[in-house]
Amino acid sequence: MDNLIACHGCDLLVDVGNLEDDSRAYCPRCGHFLTRYQRDGMSRVLAYAIAAIVLLLVASSFPFLSFKQAGLESVMTLYGAPGSLARYGMPALGLIVATFIIIVPSLILLLMVMISVPLLIGRRVPWMHAATRAVFALQNWSMAEVFIIGVLVSLVKIMSLATVILGISFWAYSAFSICFILALVSLDRYQCWQLIDQLEAQA
Ligand SMILES: [Zn+2]
Repeated sequence: MDNLIACHGCDLLVDVGNLEDDSRAYCPRCGHFLTRYQRDGMSRVLAYAIAAIVLLLVASSFPFLSFKQAGLESVMTLYGAPGSLARYGMPALGLIVATFIIIVPSLILLLMVMISVPLLIGRRVPWMHAATRAVFALQNWSMAEVFIIGVLVSLVKIMSLATVILGISFWAYSAFSICFILALVSLDRYQCWQLIDQLEAQA
């Protein structure tokens, strides 16, 4: 009974026990992805999460983009972008941008560290269930990669009007998006709860 998982596509109960390292399970009836087992899955989550946190700190400390036109230079920072939207009369949009590109990704990364460290060192912590539920609920609300694609699309337009210089923060945020996605991909919902069950069964 322990290794049964209900398919999200068709509700079939599938036995996903005894998966080999780095193998995935798919529903035999509808082909829906069920779970991916990686022996070092939690170590990967922690490594990518820490890398993403460091890159986000770097992205927050340097200029994101600068524009030069007719001798005038304007510098944009990651934290300045939501503030600029507020100054141009769109405070709600500024708040939404800050929430989806900085606040939610930061929360998810902190929760990942709070889950993966106790699981790796085999220590029970009172917040484990709440943090795990929160990380899976929040992960659909992060738009870091959407933001980077949006910036790239708008750059094509701006480049015809002004000279654009990509700052350290732009590259750091792009690398952050990649590490963030890799951390999300490495955090498998089913395997994570299995590890929590195993940890609690030991105590
Ligand atoms: Zn199915």
